[in-house]
Amino acid sequence: MNMENKTELLGMDIGDLENYLLSQGQPRFRAKQIYGWIYRKEVSSFYEMSDIPKELRLRLDENATISIPRVLKQRVSKDNTRKFLLEMKDKKKVETVLIPQGGDKNDRYSLCISTQVGCPVGCAFCATGASGFQRSLQAYEMAGQVLGSRRELAKRLKIQDRQLITNIVYMGMGEPMLNYDEVLKSVYMLNDHRGIDIGQRHITISTAGEVKGIQRLAREKIQITLAVSLHACNNELRSRLIPLNRKYPLELLMESVAEYIEISGRRVTFEYIMLDGVNMDLTDARAMIKLLKPLLANVNLIPYNEVSGLEFKRPSPGQIRQFYNWLTEGGLNVTLREERGSDIEAACGQLAAKRER
Ligand code: SAH
Ligand code: SF4
Repeated sequence: MNMENKTELLGMDIGDLENYLLSQGQPRFRAKQIYGWIYRKEVSSFYEMSDIPKELRLRLDENATISIPRVLKQRVSKDNTRKFLLEMKDKKKVETVLIPQGGDKNDRYSLCISTQVGCPVGCAFCATGASGFQRSLQAYEMAGQVLGSRRELAKRLKIQDRQLITNIVYMGMGEPMLNYDEVLKSVYMLNDHRGIDIGQRHITISTAGEVKGIQRLAREKIQITLAVSLHACNNELRSRLIPLNRKYPLELLMESVAEYIEISGRRVTFEYIMLDGVNMDLTDARAMIKLLKPLLANVNLIPYNEVSGLEFKRPSPGQIRQFYNWLTEGGLNVTLREERGSDIEAACGQLAAKRER
């Protein structure tokens, strides 16, 4: 039987796995064992499943597959950020970034995962947008990025503690809200305490402002954090930076965010890339204060990471500080995103999954 005809077990929940095993004439309890092997030990070869009878292992190997994405390449930056190039079953590639969180000890990691191969939104400043759009990822391919990265941590770095990856951010390649159903499905997979076990409060989804997705998320009764890429506080500029703003101008976007906060009771993060000479005047700061002050919101300022071939420039540290001060003096809750991995093009918006040397 060739690969395409095999049943994909990655992505199945316990119920699906039970049904599959029953259909193979196997007892139900095998599902739990196999589930543990996949989601707790990142095992993709049936031969390694030592508590499964040999005969069943052979049979599973003939009929089923567990496609945890393979790490093709990795680069490590000076600050220990790691960028993985992961390959999907159909050979499409995405990037996943492992970011140390534990200060000097580097004992906790945040993982930035991709939701699409490329991105159809095409923001003017973003390397992913410039790389075009190929397809959306399925839920198992998103959860698979976490498993593939955990496996790499365990194998290469001899780090055996599976819980080292404590936070997941959907801020890699792609627009999550244009792949809503699969993204949500993957969140529940990551959250399952019998498997990967990442708390909902440790998961963040970032959107360029796809209003339909924000409206749906508001009604999910889920504890994840919503991050909205703002980048400009007037429609003229925002449409230039984020083409999606023509479909959902600021008025509609802000209305949906206000509704999201009202329904979910959750604080929203606004991401704002600082682009030299583009969106950092006093008038920009004032407009942002006016727009966000009434809301339960945090602002995350991101110094632009330059992308070769694109015209935008990173502002100086002095300009960054000035803009930050205007906003905090205006009463906003602002954090300055620490720069990570820019020397290996693993920082926000530098992901393009080009084949590396
Ligand atoms: N598509 C989603 C999530 C992925 S991008 C979104 O746009 O929100 C994650 C974040 O990185 C977004 O806030 C995005 O605007 C930002 N980003 C993109 N390119 C960047 C760059 N070159 N430098 C800094 N941030 C960038
Ligand atoms: Fe897509 Fe986000 Fe990049 Fe815009 S910033 S092109 S929405 S990945």
